[in-house]
Amino acid sequence: MKLNNSQYDTIMRMYDAKQSHARAVQSARYEEINARLPEYDELRKETAAISAEAARAALRGDMTKREKLSDKLASINEEKRILLSSAGYPEDYLDLHYECPLCNDTGFVGGQKCRCFKQAAIDLLYNQSNIKKILLLENFSNFNYDWYSEDYIDPVSGISALENIVNVTKDVNSFISDFPSGQNLLFYGDTGVGKTFLTHCIAGELLGKGHSVLYLSAIDLFDLFSKYAFDNDSEADYRDAFSQILDCELLIIDDLGTELVNSFTNSRLFYCINERILAGLSTIISTNLSLEELMNTYSERIFSRLTMSYGIHKIFGDDIRLKKLKP
Ligand SMILES: [Zn+2]
Repeated sequence: MKLNNSQYDTIMRMYDAKQSHARAVQSARYEEINARLPEYDELRKETAAISAEAARAALRGDMTKREKLSDKLASINEEKRILLSSAGYPEDYLDLHYECPLCNDTGFVGGQKCRCFKQAAIDLLYNQSNIKKILLLENFSNFNYDWYSEDYIDPVSGISALENIVNVTKDVNSFISDFPSGQNLLFYGDTGVGKTFLTHCIAGELLGKGHSVLYLSAIDLFDLFSKYAFDNDSEADYRDAFSQILDCELLIIDDLGTELVNSFTNSRLFYCINERILAGLSTIISTNLSLEELMNTYSERIFSRLTMSYGIHKIFGDDIRLKKLKP
C-alpha cells in the first residue's frame, strides 16, 4: 500500500516533533549544566570566541595562527570533557540525541527513505499500534522458563516441554543475532503454549534494533489480499499494493489456519511466502495446525516451501496463559 499525501505529512510531522524534542532536551541540559557548572559555560563562551578568531585567521591566510588556535580549542574541549565527566555526566550529555542515529530523525539518508521511515509507514498503513502495546508486555524480559514443565513429555520426541523450549529459544536467539539472514521460522502447537509470545519477543528485539517488522494475523493478511484483488491480476499491481508485506525485513503471520482457506488464499499465501524466500527476506509463521493438517489444508507447493525453507519448531506444554497469571 502506498502512503497518501496526508499520511506522508503525518509521518513528516512526526519527524519534526522528534527533532524539536531532541533540541528541547539539549537546551534543557545546557541550562542544567550552566546552573550546576558555571565554569563549563565560561569554557563554552571561550570556545565560541576562539572558533571565530580561528575563522578570521583562516580568511586572512594566517595558517600559523589558525593552527595555534585550533590546538587551544582542542585543549579547551578536553577540559570541558573532563569537567563534565568529573561531575558525573556522560561525555555526550550535551550532544543532540536523535531517536534514529541513521537519519538523525529526518527520515532520509542520502536521499533515500531511512528504515525508520519504512517502519513508520508500516505502522501507519497496517495499524501496528496495538501490537506495539503488546510488545511492551510480551518480550524476553517477561519470558519465563518456569511456564514449561520438566514432567510434560512429548510422546513423539520423548523430550520434556522445558528441554524443548530451551532448544527453541536457542534457535530463536541465533535467528535474532544473525538477522537479517533470510532464515524463516514456523512455530506450531496447541493454543496457549506460547507460540505468539515467542513471535512477540522476536518482533520486539528486531524492532529495537531498527529492523522493519510487519506483524499480521492470518485473518488480517488475507483480508488485505482480498481487499486488493485486481481484475487483471497483474504482478506489478500486486507488488505495489503489498510492497510492505513483500519487502519488510521480517513478516510475521500469526495464527495461520484461522482464516477461511480456499484457492484464492492458497494462491496469495504461496505468492507471499515464495516472493519473500526469493528476495531472501525472513518470515515467521505461527499456527495451531499440526504438520499433517498444514499439508492437508494448503497446496503442495506451499507445504513444500514451508518444509524446505523454514526452521520448523513444535512448541508444547501446559497452557502458559494460566501460568502467567500466577505470581
Ligand atoms: Zn532513521
